[in-house]
Amino acid sequence: MADELLRGTALGGRARFAAAETTSVVEKLREIHDLSPTVSAALGRVATGTLLLAATLEKLTAREPVVTVEVEGDGPAGRLVATASPAGWVRGFARNPRATAAARGDGKLDVAAVVGRNGTLTVTRDPGIGEPWRGTVPLRSGEIARDLARYLHDSEQLPSAIGLGVFVVPEGRVAHAGGWLVQLLPGVADDEAGALADRVRRLGPVTAQLRAGRGPEAWLHDLFPDGYEVLGRTPVRFECGCSRERVEKALRLLGQAEVRSLLEEARRQGEPAELRCEFCRAVYPVPPADLERLLRELESGPR
Ligand SMILES: [Zn+2]
Repeated sequence: MADELLRGTALGGRARFAAAETTSVVEKLREIHDLSPTVSAALGRVATGTLLLAATLEKLTAREPVVTVEVEGDGPAGRLVATASPAGWVRGFARNPRATAAARGDGKLDVAAVVGRNGTLTVTRDPGIGEPWRGTVPLRSGEIARDLARYLHDSEQLPSAIGLGVFVVPEGRVAHAGGWLVQLLPGVADDEAGALADRVRRLGPVTAQLRAGRGPEAWLHDLFPDGYEVLGRTPVRFECGCSRERVEKALRLLGQAEVRSLLEEARRQGEPAELRCEFCRAVYPVPPADLERLLRELESGPR
């Protein structure tokens, strides 16, 4: 079955949810970046969590809303970044894709060890209209799901529960990935919230659910036994959306000194400079003549 992102409401509109299976998209991230098993789990959780956050955005204008999550921990993986939209695409990268950490005592991949337990988590919501909105919180656990839930609670005042999981088989392939997000909206009674928290605990880890053949619909049945309403279903896919124009725009942001050093390097080598997209690793050759033109534009001031 193709990966799918579901969003909807429950508890008579006093809770909203998003849930997704993301196995093929996380496996795609592993292939593109040659991720180690532990970084596959870490970036897979970040990418899945970003998709779930994006699912809660409404499309207000012709321009697509997007969410970016950046995790900057003190672990060996370095910075982890993912961007996603409610349309179901997601992309991401890890600063150190081959980083490793010793497995935990229970044999599970130690995501917190590779991410780090100290650092920051930043969420940027670009609604597609007006200025993007950005919030940063300190990392709490490095396990990602709890960190994102804390972010939603502390920074956006949305009491939330999140489950994220990635299961990697010993040879390194991503066999299962997915996650769910539940947010309580104003008007939820304490006993209602308490009963939901009990059901969240009983649901257990996402990977155990997926390995037992239980996907998003099964989780939602367990979380909301009195019923829920699915408002949208979107196929999930990896998509970058980079282009020559965007690479040139990024180059412009690097500034004169950087462009000049690229130009000098390109002249020395007698070859175009090569710019690589961090998200999909596509290579864009930029001939010296283009770099010269760009440099002249930068030197003549802002346009
Ligand atoms: Zn790209």
